[in-house]
Amino acid sequence: MRVLLTGGAGYIGSHTALVLLEHGHEVVVLDDFSNSSLEAVRRVEELSGKSVPVVEADLADRAASERALEDIEFDSVIHLAGLKSVGESVAQPTRYYRVNIDATLVLLDVLRERGITNFVFSSSATVYGVPQSVPIDEQHPVGDGITNPYGRSKFIIEEIIRDTQSAWPELGATLLRYFNPVGAHTSGRIGEDPSGIPNNLMPFIAQVAVGKRERLSVFGDTYATPDGTGVRDYIHVMDLAEGHVAALEHNRPGIAVYNLGSGTGSSVLEVVREFERASGQPVPFVIEAPRAGDVGEVVADPTLANTTLDWRTTRSLADACRDSWNWQSSNPEGYAG
Ligand code: UDP
Repeated sequence: MRVLLTGGAGYIGSHTALVLLEHGHEVVVLDDFSNSSLEAVRRVEELSGKSVPVVEADLADRAASERALEDIEFDSVIHLAGLKSVGESVAQPTRYYRVNIDATLVLLDVLRERGITNFVFSSSATVYGVPQSVPIDEQHPVGDGITNPYGRSKFIIEEIIRDTQSAWPELGATLLRYFNPVGAHTSGRIGEDPSGIPNNLMPFIAQVAVGKRERLSVFGDTYATPDGTGVRDYIHVMDLAEGHVAALEHNRPGIAVYNLGSGTGSSVLEVVREFERASGQPVPFVIEAPRAGDVGEVVADPTLANTTLDWRTTRSLADACRDSWNWQSSNPEGYAG
């Protein structure tokens, strides 16, 4: 296939691009580089030995995107482009709704005009809101109790895609609900490069281990979990990338929804200990108040993806810590270094 990968220069995008190329697909990256780096695409080319054309465009800008895509050939799309910081979305809700929703509306119109029916969308486990029970399968209710505009933008986009598919039955749309992506490619050449202070746990820990930050704040230790700290389902970004390729190759007309997670929960303190072991560096931490909107435990039931897509995670949390440390220690300043 020849895949248009929106957001292809970002963290998940760069790893997905690499796995697509390794599976014999061609990749065209579309990115506005607002939170990503062209260097990531260059390194994907270096790792794969293949060239990756880049279209620089803000998808939310309809005229510019239509112009930029005019001469670009593709037969399928993986749509990852979007804003993704939960905290920022609380402070700037209109920006989050506008950018994430407008980008998807423009893209869906481009697909329909061109008759491109193979579409995979990057959604999130946040659409489940506060889980009623764990592990969470795809039948769990969505929409209610979502605690931030970022998550709600993902939910709204899922609904928009469903409506679009109802009006256009040939469209095959797969919604991938990610749990917590972590880790990096084993080469240490591509990885997560957050701008400013990392919001997410593993990049923050990595920056503490490498000496860029003094200590981790552990948000809450009185949850109903074995050690009281928050439990999440961490999925290695290479497993996640392979999930995208499996979903794309399996896509058919209609709507399909899959959780992409490992099915295993780990607490904040378990991640700290695993990272210390992988890096050989201390990760000092202090316990602080729970973060607003956080929940105790979020773990996927990935059975549907395991059985339908014949996909499963093969990398452990220890692998993710090793790979994240390899990336962090060899690129302490990220792609800018
Ligand atoms: N967390 C933490 N300190 C941090 C960042 C995160 O204790 O600096 C905790 C957070 O409360 C949650 C887990 O780590 O229990 C994963 O948080 P993250 O922001 O990475 O992902 P989320 O599950 O919130 O999407």
